[in-house]
Amino acid sequence: MGLKNGSNFLADFLRQCGGYAVIDGGLATELERHGADLNDPLWSAKCLVSSPHLLRRVHLDYLEAGAKIIISASYQATLQGFEAKGISKGEGEALLKRSVEIACEARNIYNDRAAKGSWDDFGDGSVLKCGPVLVAASVGSYGAYLADGSEYSGIYGDAITVKTLKDFHRRRVQVLANSGADLIAFETTPNKMEAQAYAEFLEEEAINIPAWFSFSSKDGTNVVSGDSMVDCASIADSCKQVVGIGINCTPPRYIQGLIQLIRKVTSKPILVYPNSGETYDGEKKEWVASTGVAEEDFVSYVDKWCEAGASLVGGCCRTTPKTIRAISKVLSCRAHRV
Ligand SMILES: [Zn+2]
Repeated sequence: MGLKNGSNFLADFLRQCGGYAVIDGGLATELERHGADLNDPLWSAKCLVSSPHLLRRVHLDYLEAGAKIIISASYQATLQGFEAKGISKGEGEALLKRSVEIACEARNIYNDRAAKGSWDDFGDGSVLKCGPVLVAASVGSYGAYLADGSEYSGIYGDAITVKTLKDFHRRRVQVLANSGADLIAFETTPNKMEAQAYAEFLEEEAINIPAWFSFSSKDGTNVVSGDSMVDCASIADSCKQVVGIGINCTPPRYIQGLIQLIRKVTSKPILVYPNSGETYDGEKKEWVASTGVAEEDFVSYVDKWCEAGASLVGGCCRTTPKTIRAISKVLSCRAHRV
């Protein structure tokens, strides 16, 4: 098998963690809280250039909060986007690698401190403190590169085909696969065509690290384009490099039903990292706070998600280390029961 650590990669990792693992939370909100200015189409990728120390700090905050999988700041980092900013292909590739290296640096700092036993948030012998930490290289959709709101509609127009999408993503994924990351996280996938494109090129390019496919939904049945969640999950299930399937950047209230739909077509581990439930206004490019759920409400869902079949839980936009710490406590209790 060419795939590093095999197709049971994530299942094996989960076993080492006691059955459940925590994914990190929102990056942009935290970077802004620490003073970063993200008013740019390249979004958090901008920090790769301007303030790598802030990124490292945010990754570390999530590790300290109990995250076992941290996701690199490459969601909106594309070679095409860098080029539009006057950054050469070579420099752009170096920046992509840098996003993973920064996450790996945070992991090293965390591991050193953990070895010295300098914190013990959950008291003695917490299962979630055991097991390795994984670094996932984030890949955002074509719509995330366009930064025109189409990542939230999944409507790319007739000119875009599976082949266009494969060509668009190819080089970035090759670079990220050779950056030291443990897996590729294809995030906020808005439609079936893009899932198909990912599945085909993972195989054609013989990408040698595993991947997860994560979709977003705004109705609890379909992904944002209107394509069926079941169809999208089936594509992910049939790709042998895919080791986990899930949902991110979706309001918490839809998650349980979506997990049940995914579970119908796969036995691969299911991951969920919803947003806070607030609504993003793609035109104004701002969050509408009034529809959100309180942190306690978000966390009250976690047991239901696990009972429905999810084994990896984290947060997406507008979630914070506080959210992740609370999720971590719930999963820690569940893991003890395994
Ligand atoms: Zn999000």
